[in-house]
Amino acid sequence: MDRKDIKSFTFAEVKKAVEDMGEKPFRAKQLYQWMHEKLAADFDEMTNLSKGFRQKLKDNFTYTSLEMVGRRISEVDGTEKYLFRLADGNVIESVLMRYHHGNSVCISSQVGCRMGCRFCASTLGGLTRNLLPSEMLDQVYRIQRISGERVSNLVVMGTGEPLDNYENLLRFLELLTDEHGLHISQRNVTVSTCGIVENIRALADERLQITLALSLHASSQEKRKELMPVAYKYELKDVLDACRYYFAQTGRRITFEYSLVGGVNDTDQDARRLGEMISDMNCHVNLIPVNPIKERSYVQSDRSVIEAFKNKLEKYRINVTIRREMGRDIGGACGQLRKSYMDAKERKNGI
Ligand code: SAH
Repeated sequence: MDRKDIKSFTFAEVKKAVEDMGEKPFRAKQLYQWMHEKLAADFDEMTNLSKGFRQKLKDNFTYTSLEMVGRRISEVDGTEKYLFRLADGNVIESVLMRYHHGNSVCISSQVGCRMGCRFCASTLGGLTRNLLPSEMLDQVYRIQRISGERVSNLVVMGTGEPLDNYENLLRFLELLTDEHGLHISQRNVTVSTCGIVENIRALADERLQITLALSLHASSQEKRKELMPVAYKYELKDVLDACRYYFAQTGRRITFEYSLVGGVNDTDQDARRLGEMISDMNCHVNLIPVNPIKERSYVQSDRSVIEAFKNKLEKYRINVTIRREMGRDIGGACGQLRKSYMDAKERKNGI
């Protein structure tokens, strides 16, 4: 029999499993608390469970516990990047960002990614596999334990496309915001997607209070196709309609992410078209100066161009911010630390 991953179980499922093992019902509460409140790294840390019960747990279940294999702390702003090894040897990247309003963690949702966005480092090697709910959770748990600081906010903006790992994402969100776990408020959670239309609609129907961030990056279908292959599958119009539906169902304002790429999507015309396209929506635009990766020739827009783009959008009464670049001194953005780790490993192995 395949051992199941107990840290991905909901409380109801843990209860049932504990019952099936012939243990008293209150043991389920203790076990759940060890996993999701006390953030235990293995069954042996669960000292108020009997040795016999712990052995039964080991025989019947796997226990996800990520191993930290790298940690870099920015001298500029205190941002920390973590590299974690999964049980099967794959390595993923997570980030801790310190803000005045609290600590925010950015997690990965997949090992690699198959979406192929042209400017992104995370997709260069394609998709290896989806992350389990417990593997998404444990990025937060490990960081909270290692840093010794409470995590209050969470963004699913690391490697991977969360809506391409939809069922696991939902379960992760349920466990993360559970009052008997870390109990992070849904309002403090953001899920970023390149725009998988049917799953944006499915997520809307869940009526969670999380923020949806939509990676737009272009103001026309043609330009979006050049930057994001996913646009071959979904029309921009349908993506925006799905966002409108998300707002209608949840009342949550949409965040549009727009990575400015010098000379590609940062012209006056781009800004005007974008303004006209979304001015009727309850939204917020986050402009991201593109982080150049060595595998591509894209460059950042000049500061003056970024400011001009922002001003133009504001004329349409759109709320705009320019993303502060955090942790630039420790491996750039979006999968670049993991990429350099994997490249170094390949060099070492002589591949
Ligand atoms: N797959 C999801 C979440 C991961 S990426 C998505 O597409 O939204 C989080 C954000 O960073 C996305 O908006 C993505 O397009 C953007 N991004 C990725 N690589 C980047 C880079 N090199 N420079 C600027 N933004 C980048």
